[in-house]
Amino acid sequence: MSDLPHLFGPEGPLAARIQGFRHRQSQIEMAEKIEATIDRAGVFIAEAGTGTGKTFAYLVPALRSGGKVIISTGTKTLQDQLYHRDIPTVIAALGIPVSTALLKGRANYVCLHHLEEAVADGRFMNRDDVKHIQVIRRYADRALAGNGSGDKAELPDVPERSNAWSAAVSTRENCLGSACGRYGDCFVMKARKAAMEAEVVVVNHHLFFADLVLKDDGAQDLLPACNTVVFDEAHQLPDTATMFFGESVSTSQLLELARDSRLMGIAHAADFKDLQTAALALDKATRDLRLIVREDYGRMPGAAVVGREGFTEAFTKAQEQLGELREMLESQSARAPEIANCLDRADELAQKMLQWLASDNSAGKEGGIEGYIRWAEAFSQSLAFHLTPLSIANIFSQQVFAQKRAWIFTSATLAVKGDFGHYQTEMGLIAPESNAEGFEEDAFNERKVETASWPSPFDYPNQALLYLPANLPAPNTAEHTEAIVNAALPLIEAAEGRAFLLFTSLKAMDRAYDLLKERFEQQGLNYPLMVQGEGTRSELLERFRKLGNAVLVASHSFWEGVDVKGDALSLVVIDKLPFAAPDDPVLAARIDAINQSGGNAFMHYQVPHAAIKLKQGAGRLIRDEADRGVLMIGDLRLVEKPYGKRIWQSLPPMRRTRLEAEAVAFFQGTPAKAAASG
Ligand code: SF4
Repeated sequence: MSDLPHLFGPEGPLAARIQGFRHRQSQIEMAEKIEATIDRAGVFIAEAGTGTGKTFAYLVPALRSGGKVIISTGTKTLQDQLYHRDIPTVIAALGIPVSTALLKGRANYVCLHHLEEAVADGRFMNRDDVKHIQVIRRYADRALAGNGSGDKAELPDVPERSNAWSAAVSTRENCLGSACGRYGDCFVMKARKAAMEAEVVVVNHHLFFADLVLKDDGAQDLLPACNTVVFDEAHQLPDTATMFFGESVSTSQLLELARDSRLMGIAHAADFKDLQTAALALDKATRDLRLIVREDYGRMPGAAVVGREGFTEAFTKAQEQLGELREMLESQSARAPEIANCLDRADELAQKMLQWLASDNSAGKEGGIEGYIRWAEAFSQSLAFHLTPLSIANIFSQQVFAQKRAWIFTSATLAVKGDFGHYQTEMGLIAPESNAEGFEEDAFNERKVETASWPSPFDYPNQALLYLPANLPAPNTAEHTEAIVNAALPLIEAAEGRAFLLFTSLKAMDRAYDLLKERFEQQGLNYPLMVQGEGTRSELLERFRKLGNAVLVASHSFWEGVDVKGDALSLVVIDKLPFAAPDDPVLAARIDAINQSGGNAFMHYQVPHAAIKLKQGAGRLIRDEADRGVLMIGDLRLVEKPYGKRIWQSLPPMRRTRLEAEAVAFFQGTPAKAAASG
């Protein structure tokens, strides 16, 4: 019989070690399911509402399993929390000897080679950057002496945004791998080696997919040796996988190659001026290419970009100059590994440019890739060209079902009204036919995909109220944002601040912020008003928690991964159902593909996505069993459209009202406190 009920029980070792530990039947059931999945090397998708204790529910069986385990989280912050806090707690509680490692992407580790180059060539103009590079150098010396891992999280004195960091870390492209003079001391390689040797490795989704797809040079990939993979925050995987299963090339990469080729030419082949000339010519052709697309920001279909006057000529010119530089690099590549590295990069970029130009959305022409969406994205300084798979299902399921290994996907938001169908379809998490290539008949049952959902143990009907104001204008009208602010104001007053206002667009966010500022002044309201972008996300959250009566106006950055427990947050306002913009080139192509194959993209793709996102936003409100609060949603489609019911029924079972007086009265039971716990 399983001893999990004892381990998670009120008298068990976890309760003895963790302050405030709650015995929850749902947590035990989830742990049992995960243990069984690991035993059968199966696939399990688990939705666990806030407060279930899902982290321990997967950590206990995973750490006890005895095989190699990869745990992947959505963010580096969660990764650090798991590695430094939760895993040591479980290991100590269970008294089991398990070796663990934390592995992040290479951009998180100091690169000794590039750091030394940056220090030697004195490239920084700004005084802060000069100071920061020296601080990084001293830290690297300490880490080399054994006091650190080279992870930049260990050096908070240098801000994340400092230019010094970009010079002191490596990229997949510019890492010299085993040809590097500092290979033996390299922090990236040491972290990867430790990960290969450890029984439990904590990674993040970006790193997992980079490892899977890019097979980063100089490192063996982790997956082949692994028996169990656990994805926490698994609702993020479709987006992350989409990003990595595609191909991209950008004008920034071309400019970086031109710059590095010129610098390496000066350093290692100064007598061969043609190399520097070719690098400068590529630089110019690339800048000309960027200028063809006049937008500062935006995602656009490939056809719209290719159709611009002068685009094909400019793109072809950049390709020619890249080819020219490639030849120069090849002729000098034996002189230094740095030049050989530039040659490899030139080859890769040339291949990607060729692929992008030759691909279109309907079929694979020569050199192009079939089944991929071609699109481009303009940033203020660069232009990126992307090929994104129409569907990631086939690519991902090949990974999942190719080898015998357990896969666990968990999150607080995966299902729509208990239905996991859209997630399984999108990720390809449908067990292969028993006669599928490479599958033995009796392997079928083992690989069976199971799903389960445990609601939050919180008392939602008493802790939370869902308020849908009456008489709102339609969400796509110009007056909508002002109507939201007007409807939210009485609640903000009743709650004495303590509010998040989450908007589906930056434009609406800015407008709402201006309106609120005006109204606060007119009405003499003194709640501190904050807006996304006036500081980093963690700075804003820290201030919000400390102030205890603040109002934060935000957009996408605060829809998920934000945890404010206690009184500081008691009102969450969401302006609209968060449907993704249908003119986005990737979404538009996917919608077309689903509809053309006889499906209903709106009901089976767009509505489930909006429901999951809404659940995420709404999930900011109640973070523990003492929290109380109101969720206001300013979108009448929730009650007026047939799909609206399906969406609100996906939310936790809050009491509902259309009456402002009832929403205001809810706060009479939640007196604001000056300070709040985080
Ligand atoms: S091997 Fe790569 S990451 Fe490591 S020090 Fe050398 S260039 Fe930097």
